[in-house]
Amino acid sequence: MNAKFRCHFNDTCTTLLPKFIDVQRGGQSSVVLKPKSTEEVSNILKYCNERRLAVCPQGGNTGLVGGSVPVFDEIIINFTLMNKVISLDEISGALICESGCILENLDNYVRDRNLIMPLDLGAKGTCQIGGNASTNAGGLRLLRYGNLHGSILGIEAVSKNKKGCLINIIYFRST
Ligand SMILES: Cc1cc2nc3c(=O)[nH]c(=O)nc-3n(C[C@H](O)[C@H](O)[C@H](O)COP(=O)(O)OP(=O)(O)OC[C@H]3O[C@@H](n4cnc5c(N)ncnc54)[C@H](O)[C@@H]3O)c2cc1C
Repeated sequence: MNAKFRCHFNDTCTTLLPKFIDVQRGGQSSVVLKPKSTEEVSNILKYCNERRLAVCPQGGNTGLVGGSVPVFDEIIINFTLMNKVISLDEISGALICESGCILENLDNYVRDRNLIMPLDLGAKGTCQIGGNASTNAGGLRLLRYGNLHGSILGIEAVSKNKKGCLINIIYFRST
């Protein structure tokens, strides 16, 4: 837990990043946490919220604007271990999965069942569906399927409750 953790973009990004992003690549953190479930995320955020500790959610760390890079020693919450597909309805095409699933893995998974993910981009081998949703990614299938938000049926999110201290699980489903 107390090991120094330095955050780097992966090689794919390094070649593509403009010079001004280099400042953000120098971000660092003392702690990286890798929750395995929504409940663990909830407990982490409850703990951090009560102690007013800053956090930085991190998916595949491929985002080009550095949103996943801690700049003030924030605690990194990395979603790599939340990588399970929960269900796929092969008739409606509704996929339920955890936020740390890598986009390419999801695409391969649904492709085996004659389906296709509505998103494809150069970072697909590294980026995670949670990061894709957070950035409302477009990509190579944008003209056909639109930005990712248009394909999201619902999310399970962790957020503060009205008292501003406890963390609740919220399930949201759009129409
Ligand atoms: C080679 C390459 C090609 C690309 N091509 C395109 C393209 O064609 N079209 C396009 O739109 N974008 C493109 N991108 C950008 C792409 O959208 C992002 O890299 C990707 O969506 C981010 O996913 P990630 O898992 O890496 O998220 P990260 O970079 O880790 O995080 C991005 C943001 O999401 C937040 N976040 C991540 N996971 C979660 C979570 N589980 N819960 C809450 N917040 C979270 C982070 O805090 C951060 O603010 C490209 C990037 C690369 C490197």
